[in-house]
Amino acid sequence: MLGGARRPQPRESYGSLEASLLLCPACRQAMPVRKRLLLVLPDGSEKHEYVCRQCGATCADKLERPAPGQGF
Ligand SMILES: [Zn+2]
Repeated sequence: MLGGARRPQPRESYGSLEASLLLCPACRQAMPVRKRLLLVLPDGSEKHEYVCRQCGATCADKLERPAPGQGF
């Protein structure tokens, strides 16, 4: 009999795939970006921005709403 050890399965593929290349207005081409949390709104929404890893310019921003229907 071989082990009863169970490996925890990594939970990838859960919305972890963010846009990693965005058009940078300063570099004028698609650049790798990093996501940064800007602020959290009173309703729980989070505002993120994507900044160019090369020059630090803001390439885009995005408002993420909290998942609806928690609990209940
Ligand atoms: Zn740039």
